[in-house]
Amino acid sequence: MVRADMQPWIDHWLSGRSRSIMLRFAPKLEAAYERDTGAVRSRLLAKLVLGGCIAYLLWDLTGGLSGIGRRDRLLHALVLGPPYLLAAFLLRRGLRPIIRETLASLLLAVSGVALSVLYLGGAWPNAAMNNTAMILTILLGTLVLQLRVPYAIATTSLLVAVHIFAMLAGPALPAVVKGQFLETTIIAAAIALAANWRQERENRRAYLLTLKERLRREALTADNRALDDLARRDPLTGLPNRRAFDEWLAASVDDGTGSDTSMSRARRVSLIAIDIDHFKPYNDHFGHPAGDACLRQVAGCLREQLRDHTDLVARVGGEEFAVLLPGAALDDALEIAERFRKAVAAMEVPHPAPGANGMVTISAGVATARGMGTLQVQAMILRADAALYAAKQAGRNQVRAAEEG
Ligand code: GH3
Ligand code: MG
Ligand code: MG
Repeated sequence: MVRADMQPWIDHWLSGRSRSIMLRFAPKLEAAYERDTGAVRSRLLAKLVLGGCIAYLLWDLTGGLSGIGRRDRLLHALVLGPPYLLAAFLLRRGLRPIIRETLASLLLAVSGVALSVLYLGGAWPNAAMNNTAMILTILLGTLVLQLRVPYAIATTSLLVAVHIFAMLAGPALPAVVKGQFLETTIIAAAIALAANWRQERENRRAYLLTLKERLRREALTADNRALDDLARRDPLTGLPNRRAFDEWLAASVDDGTGSDTSMSRARRVSLIAIDIDHFKPYNDHFGHPAGDACLRQVAGCLREQLRDHTDLVARVGGEEFAVLLPGAALDDALEIAERFRKAVAAMEVPHPAPGANGMVTISAGVATARGMGTLQVQAMILRADAALYAAKQAGRNQVRAAEEG
């Protein structure tokens, strides 16, 4: 998960205002960079080290490194081969970043220093080849292994220093030739470091751009989710609205098309249709804002009574609510509806209008669908409405069951 609080650091870096010469991110961003790219880098290094080692051994053992004797050549392969293979194995398994980078730098440093040791020991007296090999080693570290900038600087500086020492202390050469060799090595090292720096900066920029895009997408998804939620929620009561209710029903209908919600799995559903009694006179008496407050109270009461998290209560009209009870049989649904009715009455919200019982009450109609086909569910809605109508006709503040369908 990308953290949104990284955004300012990302922008700061991308704007080019970061003054980190060593191209380090702020700690948390650096940790994210490592998390996202470390494994790939480790595997790439493993491949490069293994491939480089095999190519080098083949070259060494088949007569490359011209000017070196057979015994030294074999010794060279024996000394360098095993540590390289071990390093490739360790890199492949994955190492902590600092160890990974140190190991890659060490491998390169050992290769470069070995060149100077051969030269100083007189085993490889060819100064021109030795100079070229040192330059190639530096290019390998900076541009192929792409050692991270601080490591590239340290390793390259070490190799250049060792090379200068070897050239000065090694077999006698005309001063002008030594000068030319050292000059080319130093200039090549400087160019290689500059290229290494630019490459790492580009890699990091590319990473930040993808990270920024990821953050943007995550924010968008969160916004969309919030909007989705808003579109399915009744702003007055906070309950799911008619749209949510319809969608829930549609998703739960099972016409053999493979829907798999808790409701379609239940293979039975009950519906309680609820309507507040005499709500128009309540509004007329107390005014619309008080009517709104009453609606909120009733909604809160229904929500509190809902026990099972698979059940759904929605505000489906002005003062009408619907409760879906997946899996519930008619008897259970009737019991629940009765609980709702009692709970609303128990709030004793005064209702002084003529006809009302002195307090706000609800009527409820209950129906059950046996089976989750579209027709069965549609019929259940009609039967619950009819039962609600019957409850109203019978004097309100009561629950009526629909005929079994
Ligand atoms: P019955 O007992 O038969 O259900 O009678 P009733 O007065 O409740 O039914 P009727 O359908 O005549 O009136 C419903 C009223 O609900 C009318 C309308 O003013 C009110 N109403 C609908 N939506 C809202 C709302 O969002 N806020 C307020 N305050 N009142 C609403
Ligand atoms: Mg009504
Ligand atoms: Mg009403």
